[in-house]
Amino acid sequence: MSQIQAPRGTADVLPEDGRRRLDLLTSAADVLSRAGYGPVETPIFETTELFARGVGETTDIVEKEMFTFEDQGGRSVTLRPEGTAGVCRAYVEHGMHKLPQPVKLWYWGPFFRYEAPQAGRFRQFTQVGIEAIGSDDPTLDAESILLLAELLDRTGARGVRLRISSLGTPETRRAYSDELGTFLREREDKLSDDVRARLDRNPLRAFDSDHPGTRAALEDAPRLLDRLDPADAEHFEQVRALLDAAGQPYEVDGTLVRGLDYYTRTVFEFESTELGAQSALGGGGRYDGLVEQLGGPPTPGVGWAAGVERILLASGTDEPRPAPRSVYVATTGEADAAQAFGIARELRIRGLRAELEQAGRSLKGQLKHADRLGADYVVIVGDAEVQVKDMSTGEQRAAGSPGEAIELIAGAGP
Ligand code: AMP
Repeated sequence: MSQIQAPRGTADVLPEDGRRRLDLLTSAADVLSRAGYGPVETPIFETTELFARGVGETTDIVEKEMFTFEDQGGRSVTLRPEGTAGVCRAYVEHGMHKLPQPVKLWYWGPFFRYEAPQAGRFRQFTQVGIEAIGSDDPTLDAESILLLAELLDRTGARGVRLRISSLGTPETRRAYSDELGTFLREREDKLSDDVRARLDRNPLRAFDSDHPGTRAALEDAPRLLDRLDPADAEHFEQVRALLDAAGQPYEVDGTLVRGLDYYTRTVFEFESTELGAQSALGGGGRYDGLVEQLGGPPTPGVGWAAGVERILLASGTDEPRPAPRSVYVATTGEADAAQAFGIARELRIRGLRAELEQAGRSLKGQLKHADRLGADYVVIVGDAEVQVKDMSTGEQRAAGSPGEAIELIAGAGP
């Protein structure tokens, strides 16, 4: 029979990679919880309308990248392509506006976009992200940027660059969008088909294009950053001052428009020069209208999402972190299996890493295997006695009992 493979654009995570992901998850939990962010989980599929309304009908994501299907009850549901809409829905649904604001949340999980797979781009990928909902204080914008910078730094991501900008309010953006639309229409013959097709609905998306003609046409285009109203310009100034004071390097890039419609004011993106075409590590910004758009009270918010696979690609494979002392429990005969099992279990409870013989190897084969695993100690459980071998010195000692062997190892200090 023909072999079945994982669907295009998906990947299995095998233990070596799994360990690195778990390390990143642990770092994220640590960095984010120390800044007051609590863990949140929302469903992997949502009502399709949530993304149509939240992310925006004319975005690439909603137009062509969603995994949308009808369930057995005839409802249209979609595998989540991003996390902010779901978290904001949960904020409204659970009346979180009644809690002390801002409500700070972080998440980690799988997301789905029907994109052409390539290096760093998958149809199922993992994002870690945060949302701070209920305040428009510029310290939240700066804090969220600095938290992603800290996480990337901790993970050892290389060649990291940060670009920031401000999109102002929806009104400024609409007026600017009209201005840009008029500007581009005068240069319509130079634009890509894609950009031309969206000129009426969403001219800002032209900035996402890598089509040479479009890029050339955009060179002298008006910049949204020059059109901000005074309050938005002041907000952006404050965010920048906080980043400057924190010593965080960044580049102000007036062409930065993110591929989702809900952004207002601050937007930012971290990228890595180590990655090829798919260089974005993570990005986000402020979305002061989104909660209201989803049926909640007017509520500002800011957040980001970062791609776990991309962060790890940009981080290379570093030296593994020091593991707890590890023990291999070997046996000389079948009769000792239960005793070896008990010793391994007790060592694990005492915080050590312990493995035992579970594949019927000879004693010689077991010692070779212990060496391969990098065990610090081997406990050899015989018919009459228990021996403890220190693998770093080769020294072997008899322990009177299994309990004494455990003490010898667990009490030996780090
Ligand atoms: P976005 O909100 O679309 O900017 O996504 C945030 C981050 O998620 C990006 O910067 C990428 O690191 C990651 N990401 C987005 N789409 C994909 C994908 N198809 N495959 C892998 N990572 C992705």
